[in-house]
Parts: sequence; structure tokens; C-alpha cells
Amino acid sequence: MIDRNPADPNDSGALAPRARSTWGWGWADKFPDREARTPMAEMASSMLGFPGQEVEEPVPLDQAAMPAPRIVPPDNVAAICTTDRRERALHTYGKSWPDLIRGFRGDYAVAPDVVAHPRTEHDVVAVLQWCAEAGIACIPFGGGTSVVSGTEPDVGPAWAGTVSLDMRRMDALLEVDEHSLAARLQAGATGPWINEQLAAHGLTLRCFPQSWEFATLGGMIVTRAGGHYATVRTHIDDLVESLRMVTPAGAWASRRLPGSGAGPSPDRMVLGSEGILGVVTEAWMKVQRKPRFRSKADVRFAAFGDAVEATRLIAQSGLDPANCRVLDAREAMLNQVTTDGSTVLLLGFESADHAQAERLVRALAIAEAHGGTCPAGPQHRDDGEGGRDGGAAGSWRDAFFGGPYLRDVLLSVGIIADTFETAITWDRFEALHAALIQRVRATMKEVCGAGRLTCRFTHVYPDGPAPYYTFIAPARRGDEIAQWAAIKETASEVLMEHGATITHHHAVGRLHRPWYERQRPVPMGDVLRAMKDQLDPTGMLNPGVLIQER
Ligand SMILES: Cc1cc2nc3c(=O)[nH]c(=O)nc-3n(C[C@H](O)[C@H](O)[C@H](O)COP(=O)(O)OP(=O)(O)OC[C@H]3O[C@@H](n4cnc5c(N)ncnc54)[C@H](O)[C@@H]3O)c2cc1C
Repeated sequence: MIDRNPADPNDSGALAPRARSTWGWGWADKFPDREARTPMAEMASSMLGFPGQEVEEPVPLDQAAMPAPRIVPPDNVAAICTTDRRERALHTYGKSWPDLIRGFRGDYAVAPDVVAHPRTEHDVVAVLQWCAEAGIACIPFGGGTSVVSGTEPDVGPAWAGTVSLDMRRMDALLEVDEHSLAARLQAGATGPWINEQLAAHGLTLRCFPQSWEFATLGGMIVTRAGGHYATVRTHIDDLVESLRMVTPAGAWASRRLPGSGAGPSPDRMVLGSEGILGVVTEAWMKVQRKPRFRSKADVRFAAFGDAVEATRLIAQSGLDPANCRVLDAREAMLNQVTTDGSTVLLLGFESADHAQAERLVRALAIAEAHGGTCPAGPQHRDDGEGGRDGGAAGSWRDAFFGGPYLRDVLLSVGIIADTFETAITWDRFEALHAALIQRVRATMKEVCGAGRLTCRFTHVYPDGPAPYYTFIAPARRGDEIAQWAAIKETASEVLMEHGATITHHHAVGRLHRPWYERQRPVPMGDVLRAMKDQLDPTGMLNPGVLIQER
């Protein structure tokens, strides 16, 4: 597919002739050539202390292994369907590390037979009807940024074929209610396109997951995405006012309400449903006026534990910072925020209405009482006067959104780089963190010979943090997926042993299901199954996600 790229200044919002990588994170033209990657490989191995490896090239698509399509779309949907090889490759995997390496090596064994691009809800209904009648599994597809095999058409042999239902042609801003601060958006709109359409009204959804460049509204809703703000309304859950989902059993549409106590929330039943109950086609979202007043500071700590304690107290202070991101020393160094070995706490406050200096001053006082220092001092900005974030927060933000592109480069030079994330209450964080550091490092040493593990907090709540870990280890070519799986397995087991969640915002998909089954209340599996049987009687929607295939 040719992607819409409204973030690109050369693209006015019309369909841009810019191709997405079939195997890597983002735009194909952002993957550096071999000549540029060679010095990057040397730098990475000397920085990380790993042995250098030969720079490898991705297998070209025309040499990749992909079975022939098994199904032919009927006339009523043929015009919105394709069996084009590149399209099928683009819809085979999400963006987890095993996804990237399989695509890089040209393994498209589980490619969908057909890719459908509905333009209207009527098209969605028609594709679902075809799939139900023909015994085909249908995999809803948003931006394809899942890291949990949520969009992988890896279904059992009972299905006649697979259709990837790509929602990105349904991407319009349909209505804006500036009085109530709400906007009706189609589910296939990506982060930049949502932002651009809302910006014309001076509004923002203010939900920026790291995958924002490609993730869609529908994908974010059904995976309960977390934006990158640290506190308060940063999860998509809190921004949904009402939504509309097409199911094989009919439409699921909720009322626009600011809140409601009328029984279980119909929206909450869709949030986290990961495409197994229906296809979200549109939603009314709570939007905000663009923030104008910003205050921020970068606080340094000699000890990680002191930074954690200061962060806990700030999270419990009621100050509700927009940014409250602890970066351990390695994370700070890798992201070029510091080089002096200190733990960093990035603090930021923002508002569309009033200056934030007082709140920052109080948060800084808490941090300083726990050993924090703020060498650059607090900074305040009024966007009415222009300007853009600089300093450590600016370096952090650039590294944050550029990180996924770097991961592709590391993969091509023989380095495994991936993440896992969780949430836990403050009283149990220290034990969990110590166990993860010890056991994940031991596994990396055992299966890779070496490895680095870094930690940051992505979100903080009054009762606990959401820590996010990055593991980086030298790959043994050909064995990478087994190496990766051993590390992931250790991390997931430690999370379960300590009562943490298998995921705070990356979702369950197929990958996390074994641990999710252990985490959720036992009867809840039966309830999910009953809901699925009711809404999707043939079980064709995303089989294997969240619950086992029958
Ligand atoms: C580098 C990177 C960084 C990430 N950072 C974050 C982050 O900061 N916060 C975060 O929350 N997540 C993050 N993720 C995970 C991922 O981006 C999110 O889960 C995102 O919400 C998925 O959106 P998507 O549109 O790409 O959905 P997809 O990946 O296309 O699909 C995800 C799931 O949703 C289903 N689905 C998609 N669209 C619909 C629809 N319209 N109706 C019904 N089901 C649908 C799919 O079947 C699948 O099960 C990151 C991933 C990567 C690779």
C-alpha cells in the first residue's frame, strides 16, 4: 500500500508516493544503505562492547518465500481486494523483533491470501459476510504496529484462507463538536493524520504512543494504547466518548456520553478486544485544546533508587505532570540524554489554559529533597510565543520517535534489540526490578554471551509505575528467534512470579496469550469466549488472539 504521510511536510495529506518497508519499522527510504550502516555497526559494537558482525542485507521481496493465495474474492468485494505480493508481505507481520527478522530473511510463510482495503462500513460488512460464508479467517489490520503478533494471519488449518482487513482507507475526521470538545473520527486514521485534521480546529487527541507515526485510532482503541504522557488522561481508554464496531452479528454502537453508570460500559467491552469481537469503524473521541504553557526540568540523581522514590512522591502529590519519565543511567546514555552515569528524571507540565511554573517548582522541591539536582534549571515556555522543546527532553523525544528506525539498523548488523513492559504497585517494584535485572541479564549471558538491559518509566500512577525495559544483545545468525524467545520467556515468567501484568500497553495478541491466561480471572476466559460466540459465531475474527482457537 502507498501510505498516507501527513507528517511529511512535502505531503499535503493526499496519498503520498512513499512506500513503507515490507520488513522494517517505517518508511523504506529511511533505512540507511550498506555504506552508511557499516560505521554504525562499528559504533554500536564498540559502545555496547559486543563483537562486530558483517552488515547483512534484507532478502529482496522477489526472492522471498510466500505461498500462492488460496482464495479468490467474490465480485462484490473484488474491487477493494488485492493479492499483490508486496501488499501481502506488508500485512504478514507486526513489528516485534521476531516479525522484523522473519521479514528481513524473506520468510512470508503465513502471508494473508488476500488484503482488503474497505472504504466504507458497507465494505467492511461485505468482507465479513464473505469470510463467514466461505470459512475464511479475517484479521483486522490498523497500522500493523502490533508487537504481540496481533495482526499475523497465523491461524489453524481449519480455515480456507485468510483476509487481512486493512482499515486505513477509512481515515476521515467526520465531525467536530468544539462546544463539548469531542471529535468523530474514522478508525483507520493514523496518529499524524488525526493530529493534522484536528489541528485545523486548534485541537489535539493528545495521545502519542511511540508507534504514533503509523498506529491507527482503531488499533489503539482495541489494544488500549498508552500515549507517552506520564499521568492522567494518556490512555486511549480515557479518551473514548463512544464508538461504533461492526460485528458479524450486527453493529455495536454506544451513546455519546461524558460518563455513565448504566451497567457495564459498552465501550470498555471493546477496549482491549484486539479485533476478536468486531471491527471498530469510528469513534467519538474526547479532544483537547492544544497545550500552550509548558514548564520542564531535567533532574539528575546519583542513585536509581532515589529517583524512583522522588517519582513515587511526585506521582502521589496530585501535581499530575505530563512528563515524569525516569531513565536509568544506561537508558539515559543510549538515548544521548546524559553521559555522566546519572539517572535522569524528565519532568514536564503543560496546559492550554494557565502557566505551569508553580507546579514544576513544587515537583522540583520534592525531587531535590531526595537527592536530585537540576543543573540546567527549570524552563518555561509559552507556545503563543513560538519555540520547540530543546535540552534533555528534546533529545529524549527525538531518540524516542527515532528509536524504531535504529532497531532495524541494529538487526541488520547482528544485534537483537527489543523491549518488554509492565506495571506494578510501588511496594513491589524494587523486588521485581532486582529480579528482572538479575535473571534477564543471566539469560542474555547464557544464550547470547552478553547483553544490556535498561529501564525507564513510561507512565506513573499514584499506586505504582509502569516500567519499560529494553534488552540489547548480540545475535547468533540463524538462532536469533530462539535467543529472543529465551529472553522474553525469562522476563515474562519474572513478571508473573511478582504479580505484575504481562503488558501495560503493548496488548496480548498471540504472543502474550499464555501469560495472559494465567493472569486473568479464570471465569473471564469463559466470558470472553461467550461474548465471541455471540458476536462472531464462526470464530473467524482474529483466531488465536486473546483466547485459544476452538
Ligand atoms: C516501536 C513501537 C513502539 C510502540 N509504542 C507503543 C506505545 O508507546 N504505546 C502503546 O500503547 N503501544 C505501543 N506499541 C504497540 C502498538 O503500536 C500498539 O498496540 C498500537 O495501538 C497498535 O495500533 P495499530 O493501528 O498499529 O494496530 P495493529 O497493529 O494493526 O493491530 C493491533 C490489534 O488491533 C486489531 N485491530 C486493528 N485495527 C482494528 C479495528 N479497526 N477494529 C478492530 N480491531 C482492530 C488487530 O487485529 C490487532 O489485534 C508500539 C509498537 C512498536 C512497534
